[in-house]
Amino acid sequence: MSFSSFGLSDRILRGVQASGYTVPTPIQTLAIRPALEGRDVIGTAQTGTGKTAAFVLPMLHRLEELRPSRTHYPRALVLTPTRELAHQVHEAVSTYGKFMSLRSGAIYGGVGMEPQIRLLRSGVDVVIATPGRLLDHMQRKTINLSNVQMFVLDEADRMFAMGFIRDVRKIIAALPSHKQTMLFSATFSKEISELASGVLKNPHRAEVGHSHEPLTSITQNFYSTVSQAKMELLLHVLKAEAMDSVLVFTRTKHGADKLTRRLDRKGIAATAIHSNKSQSQRLRSLEAFRRGKFRVLVATDIAARGIDVDGISHVINFDMPRDAEDYVHRIGRTGRAGLSGKALTFVTGEDRDMVRRIERFTGRAVATGEYPGFKAASVQCVPVRSGKRTTGLGPSTPGNGTRGFRKDGRRKPLAFASKKKRGRKMEFYSSARSWENR
Ligand code: AMP
Repeated sequence: MSFSSFGLSDRILRGVQASGYTVPTPIQTLAIRPALEGRDVIGTAQTGTGKTAAFVLPMLHRLEELRPSRTHYPRALVLTPTRELAHQVHEAVSTYGKFMSLRSGAIYGGVGMEPQIRLLRSGVDVVIATPGRLLDHMQRKTINLSNVQMFVLDEADRMFAMGFIRDVRKIIAALPSHKQTMLFSATFSKEISELASGVLKNPHRAEVGHSHEPLTSITQNFYSTVSQAKMELLLHVLKAEAMDSVLVFTRTKHGADKLTRRLDRKGIAATAIHSNKSQSQRLRSLEAFRRGKFRVLVATDIAARGIDVDGISHVINFDMPRDAEDYVHRIGRTGRAGLSGKALTFVTGEDRDMVRRIERFTGRAVATGEYPGFKAASVQCVPVRSGKRTTGLGPSTPGNGTRGFRKDGRRKPLAFASKKKRGRKMEFYSSARSWENR
């Protein structure tokens, strides 16, 4: 099958050709045709399978075909959960539509309102937006959605996971009832099914593979370790394997910054993206990583959503994700567009429950072993959670003035500490809790 068999306009086919695509991916094969017929579509496909073109190409074609509006208000709206994704979809629209005279713009938070207001005032056909910023514009009446003929809800599962669904519902309620709607999601849960049944009319289902299963092009390995040895293990792994372009996930922003500094000190070019960084910093880091200036990109889940960098060779879960679905999304950043990829996950004693949840979610058993040539035990550390309270601090020993201990080496009773200090001691006693307290 080729793209020309869909009956896409010549101008769009030239845009596709310029992107270097010759054969549609399975989700494109299943979704493009019904979307071109004007049907509502629910697309369920794993991450990295070409979902964006599956809705952008028919959207561009329909916009050309449908009666142009007499106003300059947007005719198509794409909602994405993150700024990065909005930016990427905007780039896809610009690339595939480069031989058309349509105008598109991305509307997301973290950057000034004014340029967006000017852009909207000057007129755009396609708006790609994140829910929060779009609602801001709606409240200020700087956007008029009364002309929207096509609506795409991208990564609907993430909208739920990130708590945006109320905003999404408000936006949907403000759209004209007569329009074409496409909903894309990596997973299809009961809540998404409920949302879809209220929003889509007689939708065509385009489903590729088991939506929970990571791509088969990704090799997954789980390595057992202890919290205190993770950094050493990461350095060992980065040395041992030919890793060109590595995405490392941490649980916290603080953890991402700390890890980046430590890699830098070891001479490994690394940069971090997380939600404390400004949007322009995030885009700059991503671009520099894409160009190969940094070998390692350290990210938290929230910022990593929608990262589409060609050729990420490895994804390393330095910290476990908070839920099993995030695991599939994280590792889906590698092995994209038919390339092979490798995912390595560091597993500590406290992560066992999450490993079981990943097994249940993906339907595959996980074997955890030691990384070849690396012994966690060789890194100085003290096991945590051994029934009795232990320090979990490794090198420091009680009795030398360490916080929480008396000069004679006995532990200070907790009752002596204030409530606030007791909270901090959680970090001290158990590394399992430490990320929560940071
Ligand atoms: P997506 O799932 O939309 O994020 O796309 C994943 C990657 O696949 C992106 O880098 C796209 O540029 C690429 N891609 C999308 N469609 C095709 C295609 N038909 N042939 C080759 N690569 C594609």
